Amino acid sequence: MSFIAENLSSVKQRIERAALRAGRRPQDITLIAVSKTKPAELIREAYNCGQRVFGENRVQELSEKAPALPGDIAWQLIGHLQTNKVRQVVGRVSLIHSLDSLRLAEELQKESEKRGLVTELLLEINIAGEESKFGFRPEEAIAAAEWIALLPALRLRGLMTVAPFTEDPEENRKYFRQMRQLAVDIKDKNIDNVSMDILSMGMTGDFEVAVEEGATMVRVGTGIFGERDYSAQS
Ligand SMILES: *Cc1c(COP(=O)(O)O)cnc(C)c1O
Repeated sequence: MSFIAENLSSVKQRIERAALRAGRRPQDITLIAVSKTKPAELIREAYNCGQRVFGENRVQELSEKAPALPGDIAWQLIGHLQTNKVRQVVGRVSLIHSLDSLRLAEELQKESEKRGLVTELLLEINIAGEESKFGFRPEEAIAAAEWIALLPALRLRGLMTVAPFTEDPEENRKYFRQMRQLAVDIKDKNIDNVSMDILSMGMTGDFEVAVEEGATMVRVGTGIFGERDYSAQS
């Protein structure tokens, strides 16, 4: 077995165990294989193991890699999107995890409407209030959801967060809990055109805790593809 096959199988097993510990159904959690910086060959290996959902954080890289890979891959954008790149993303990804401003929502609305498409997205929340991170503050989330609901070519499906980097995943449990509660609060508002069925949280270092706290999507890169090497990038 290749290291990717082994890693994938181990990550899936850990997701399954975390789900069962929390009394959840393992099939309710989608694994997003984060393939940023990784070449098409490695992505194809994961594909050959049955993986179909892949996450990329840069539009440029996504546009370069996607044409070389099978058409039934569901690409998802997980990184910050600049408004001038919106045209290259709409219609190319099945989900945008990283809606981090109303300005971006407006641009996505315009482009989606022009193309006759509905773009599905998640509201990115900066749950720990970190200076370095994108995303709405938790207290802005309800108003943002209400505003996005008015844009007919957008469909808000849930929330996403990148929790703080930590050696001890237990430290992020409180943030995952807050995310879950925030999703419940927004759902309770019964906003037309908004659902809160997706909670995208948890990465290599903390995905099991995220699953225990209600994640429906986990984004795992290093745990599947190994360490990333940024030195070769321009
Ligand atoms: C890179 C990245 C991940 C995956 O990180 P790992 O720690 O390698 O699992 C998940 N989410 C986002 C937004 C990322 O940029």
